[in-house]
Amino acid sequence: MRLADRVALVTGAGSGIGLESALALSREGAKVVVADIAEEPGEAAAARLRDTGGDACFVRADVSKGEDCARMVATAEETYGALHVLFNNAGISHIDDSGAEDTDEAVFDLTMNVNLKGVFLGCKHGIPALRRAGGGSIINTASFVAVLGAATPQLAYTASKGGVLALSRELAVLHAREGIRVNALCPGPLRTELLMKYLDTEAKRQRRLVHVPMGRFGEAREIADAVVYLASSESSFVTGTSFLVDGGITAAYVTPE
Ligand code: NAD
Repeated sequence: MRLADRVALVTGAGSGIGLESALALSREGAKVVVADIAEEPGEAAAARLRDTGGDACFVRADVSKGEDCARMVATAEETYGALHVLFNNAGISHIDDSGAEDTDEAVFDLTMNVNLKGVFLGCKHGIPALRRAGGGSIINTASFVAVLGAATPQLAYTASKGGVLALSRELAVLHAREGIRVNALCPGPLRTELLMKYLDTEAKRQRRLVHVPMGRFGEAREIADAVVYLASSESSFVTGTSFLVDGGITAAYVTPE
């Protein structure tokens, strides 16, 4: 097992990428703290990990709140004795997020608070714990939109994810000599609830797939595989990256018919 004796904390682990990653980390032997703002899916995720032979507990945490982030990290150390892997994954995509003229300040602030400040707060409280553990790996979920502009804008979301890239790079440099690696993970368009709520017709889905060389949406499970790699010692010389798992979307100018 690639993560035996490791303790991992996953935010937004109640669904999508977070859930699949928590399952994958658990399969590889990690003890997992499942953190989510939503109690029912979070409790269910932790129960599912335990049912499949893993060791997991749930903590309710809103990542935009400092005290919640402090509590989720404390839960890892109090329950399992240490924290080695921190996956700051929780994020939102607001239905009213649009261009500069049409996006309300409240939508911008909410998106920034969860997607960017949430990652900052996770790192703020998680880094001392990783240092106490003698080092570890931080993975922050950004997105392919952090490196590409889209004509169907989600300005707050895009800006928040660009911030995650910049923040992750700088933390990687700051903490490299302490054995703390920090990488930003950039998923491409996935067949998850977060995206499919917008692409709710076949025509809209096909319109998006025109840009993906592989011609399909990714699965949360495929992102989870990258999370396990970045969490484990297999990636021991990998830090400060914007790690793209995107079906080739950021490589393409024109995709094949
Ligand atoms: P999802 O909506 O399935 O899961 C997000 C989880 O985060 C949910 O369980 C939700 O309850 C939780 N959450 C929301 N706000 C929270 C908060 N304030 N505190 C704690 N938990 C909170 O979404 P997903 O597709 O799995 O997305 C996970 C991450 O991946 C997000 O950061 C998202 O921006 C990013 N991402 C997704 C895609 C995609 O196509 N789905 C692509 C690129 C990046």
